[in-house]
Amino acid sequence: MLNTMDRRYYKTENYNTKTTKKLKTAYETFLSSVGEDIQRDGLLKTPERAAKAMQFLTQGYEIDAAEILKGAMFAEDHKNMVIVKDIELYSMCEHHMLPFFGKAHIAYIPNGHIVGLSKIPRVVDVFARRLQVQERLTDQILHCINDTLKPLGVAVVIEAKHMCMMMRGVQKQNSVTTTSAFVGAFQQLETRNEFINLLGAKLM
Ligand SMILES: [Zn+2]
Repeated sequence: MLNTMDRRYYKTENYNTKTTKKLKTAYETFLSSVGEDIQRDGLLKTPERAAKAMQFLTQGYEIDAAEILKGAMFAEDHKNMVIVKDIELYSMCEHHMLPFFGKAHIAYIPNGHIVGLSKIPRVVDVFARRLQVQERLTDQILHCINDTLKPLGVAVVIEAKHMCMMMRGVQKQNSVTTTSAFVGAFQQLETRNEFINLLGAKLM
């Protein structure tokens, strides 16, 4: 076996030591508060693990989504609808700090520039990895793409299931929340219908 440094590819994760410590203390309090024994075997490393997981899930606060797009914009004359659909999405509702998850479908019509396709899901992740409401998440993705790429139009549709509705509250397991936002050319019915038709049976 080669040492990590000698491998042709390896990935490392880095966490902020100060934040990890603060969150670890908070999770110890949390576990005791729900009646757990934080000294029992299975929980010994849980506060630190949870602290790291939460930093991963909220990393979006520190990332500039516009910069991600700017890093991969290419001059191109293409003026037809570009759609990236079924982008997996995992976020957390800001009211209960419980996950909501589903799919995002995004389209834009270029106006002189296209963007590397993998950057669109990355923009979704930047805004999803914060405490969110689905409505604001939809708008933030839309405005980021619109303001940075300055296309002829942008459409964003998000379909998601909310754990705060499934596990608690009304306990509805099968309801799906759909939000959408449109700017520019997508405000015209014909363009919007073309987009919706192309998504077609893909809706959850
Ligand atoms: Zn909620």
